[in-house]
Amino acid sequence: MFSVEEGIKHLQSSGAKVTSQRVAIMKSLEGRTDHPSAEQLFIELKPEYPTLSIATVYSTTQLMAQASMIRILTIDKNKVNFDPNVQPHGHFMCRKCKRIVDLPMDVSALVKHGKKFDIDSIDAVEVFLYGFCSECGDL
Ligand SMILES: [Zn+2]
Ligand SMILES: [Zn+2]
Repeated sequence: MFSVEEGIKHLQSSGAKVTSQRVAIMKSLEGRTDHPSAEQLFIELKPEYPTLSIATVYSTTQLMAQASMIRILTIDKNKVNFDPNVQPHGHFMCRKCKRIVDLPMDVSALVKHGKKFDIDSIDAVEVFLYGFCSECGDL
């Protein structure tokens, strides 16, 4: 998990301008576990930052992903979702309510298995599982 202070340093070192809108985007992602989409962040921040554009949300999160502060998930074909947890883990998305849940992954077991296929190390895992959550299933 990143801290906003680290994020500001990352932006500065990559030559990007540190604006109050960019800081607000970082703050709203810090420590979150609900994998918000770009649109969701935009709607949340717009009342406080009326001049905020969706393009700023995309460009800021892009910079954050390049600095390994967040992961950009493509589990939902219609949008992107952001995850400040960059440790390897999988995701489950409910087809009905679209909630995205973290799933622990045993990367060491994958690496062990990967040795057989000439894989030396694994530092990122993209596992997307789809189905119905317990609230949406069995209706
Ligand atoms: Zn559901
Ligand atoms: Zn996650």
